[in-house]
Amino acid sequence: KTEHRSFRLYKEGEDEAHLERLNLVEELREVMAGTTEELFMVYQPKLNLKTQKIEKVESLIRWIKADGTFVSPELFIDLAEQSGLIIKLTHWVLDSVLKQQASWAKSNLHLKVAINISAQDIAHADFIDFLFQKIDRYQVDPNLITLELTERDIMTNEDLVVSRLNQLKRLGIQISVDDYGIGQSSLGKLKQLPIDELKIDKTFILELDQSEKDQQIVSSTIELSHKLGLTVVAEGVENEASLNMLREMNCDHIQGYFLSRPVKSDVLIEWLGAYDA
Ligand code: C2E
Ligand code: CA
Ligand code: CA
Ligand code: CA
Repeated sequence: KTEHRSFRLYKEGEDEAHLERLNLVEELREVMAGTTEELFMVYQPKLNLKTQKIEKVESLIRWIKADGTFVSPELFIDLAEQSGLIIKLTHWVLDSVLKQQASWAKSNLHLKVAINISAQDIAHADFIDFLFQKIDRYQVDPNLITLELTERDIMTNEDLVVSRLNQLKRLGIQISVDDYGIGQSSLGKLKQLPIDELKIDKTFILELDQSEKDQQIVSSTIELSHKLGLTVVAEGVENEASLNMLREMNCDHIQGYFLSRPVKSDVLIEWLGAYDA
């Protein structure tokens, strides 16, 4: 790989960036093994437009270094995937989220949680065993767990992934296709897959109220998804006009800053209390 790079301009700058990325992977490895609280999960509620209730949240990882530096999940998840560290990181996430669900259950809060996983996780031989070890340990109902994978994650190694997804579904886990619409596959393709839910990518939703084109794409995606028996979530809902449009379009769930940003568990609990009242 370095051979290619040496033909490019600004080699030094690139090597520096490369070193920085390596350092970040090393730091992440250390943080995961340690007992600091630099890594933590936040939860973003989803509103069920049919029932007006909050039944689900998406879990999202955060890394804030001891010195206060915020590291973007897009960046470190990507690095973790490239370095193979993602398997361990997902173990950390699963442990953290299921522990949280167990703690909520003690206060009689039975929230469904969507957990982001990567292609490598689902392809890994021990993934389902590990997930169910945690489910047993924390006594979480598998029906309260959804796994979010992108189209690309599914299409990479499709046969293996599909067999894993079938296995997971038999065990009561739900499957959601994340970032739908920016990948390659068509709804026709997705209908052959063992999935329950489609998340329309936020690029189609962020300016929904301003863009007729987005409105057409989104409304036809919702209609077709329903014909295929899939539940539809719109992510990236930032204003009321878009929310109302999605309601008109018969979208099932919405998620976005208009409702709430992703927050820590204690803030979520307080928010839920105020929302219900
Ligand atoms: P994603 O799974 O597509 O997550 C949705 C992203 O959109 C999150 O960014 C969320 O904070 C953001 N978002 C939610 N509502 C709005 C909105 O109304 N407007 C805008 N502009 N953005 C909104 P975040 O938390 O920075 O995560 C980025 C990506 O990092 C995620 O995209 C996911 O691919 C990855 N990621 C985050 N947490 C995890 C994790 O625990 N495991 C794995 N494997 N990946 C994760
Ligand atoms: Ca997601
Ligand atoms: Ca991903
Ligand atoms: Ca997404």
